[in-house]
Amino acid sequence: MSSLKLLLIDDDRLQHTLVKGFVGKFRTGPWEIDNALDYPAGLKKLLSDKHSVCLLDYRLGEHDGLELLREARAAGCNVPVVFLTADSSVETDEAAMEAGAMDYLVKGEITPRILEHSIRYARKLADTLHQLKQLATRDALTGVFNRRELQRMLAEECARSLRFGHPFSLVMVDIDHFKNVNDTHGHQVGDEVLKHVANLISGQIRTVDRVGRYGGEEFGILMIESSRTQALEGMRRIAALLAETPCIVASTGLTLPVTLSAGVAEIPVDAKTPEELVAAADAALYAAKKAGRNRVLPAEPAQPAEA
Ligand code: GH3
Ligand code: MG
Ligand code: MG
Repeated sequence: MSSLKLLLIDDDRLQHTLVKGFVGKFRTGPWEIDNALDYPAGLKKLLSDKHSVCLLDYRLGEHDGLELLREARAAGCNVPVVFLTADSSVETDEAAMEAGAMDYLVKGEITPRILEHSIRYARKLADTLHQLKQLATRDALTGVFNRRELQRMLAEECARSLRFGHPFSLVMVDIDHFKNVNDTHGHQVGDEVLKHVANLISGQIRTVDRVGRYGGEEFGILMIESSRTQALEGMRRIAALLAETPCIVASTGLTLPVTLSAGVAEIPVDAKTPEELVAAADAALYAAKKAGRNRVLPAEPAQPAEA
């Protein structure tokens, strides 16, 4: 049986000995313990994403365990964390919860049963939270981000791009003549085509980029740190790949050619707000449709200001 990994981050070596003793008496497992004695080593191990649970000291030398947890959560870490604290005040409890802890245990009151129970509940709660997050942020049919999450990320990336002066591009994608697929082969086959396109795009974008279903047969792609020219190049490659990769419907073996049209706009060149960016990419998409479909066009360059 492969063992579960528990990460203990505590600057007190005595705590490591105690936890090892408790874990040795667990009824479930086997558990393997990984130790870290300070903030940088703890953060690095926590972010490695190899652990099933982390026990984190509330007061970590001159550092704060809360700070470490906030930093880890901000970096996308989902490992369930249980705090080990010296006091049992309501303030400590609330601060731990706010920072994203699943539970907290008071040092000196811990027994093997209490620790094992807390870890079991922390893992279950983290798993449930993860599932809820998936439901709230993903499109049920295709698995890519849903419109609400796409818009949230869009606003965040626009603000970051304007603040740090980094380019950022939005691509609006629309499948060509998709209604024909539904009308000719039925909605279920239409759904297969939507999944095919979503999978192909997801597999082609860089890991930093994000794709979401904007609605119907429209997708939005956030191309991080990409100028309009770079995004255009990347999207043209994806569109060409799709054009030569037909959708094969598993149930019938039907082979359906699929193409897309897309418009690309960049912040801050084409727009200064998320709404303007969507409008600029949409206008370029509309131009691509009008020009004959199966193509990717950039937003019109902004008109120079009148003298
Ligand atoms: P164009 O090339 O101009 O984009 O033409 P089109 O046929 O792709 O565009 P149109 O907007 O006329 O049709 C979009 C169709 O997408 C109509 C709608 O019934 C269908 N649709 C929207 N959501 C879904 C879905 O979840 N599943 C399926 N199968 N069809 C959907
Ligand atoms: Mg369409
Ligand atoms: Mg459409």
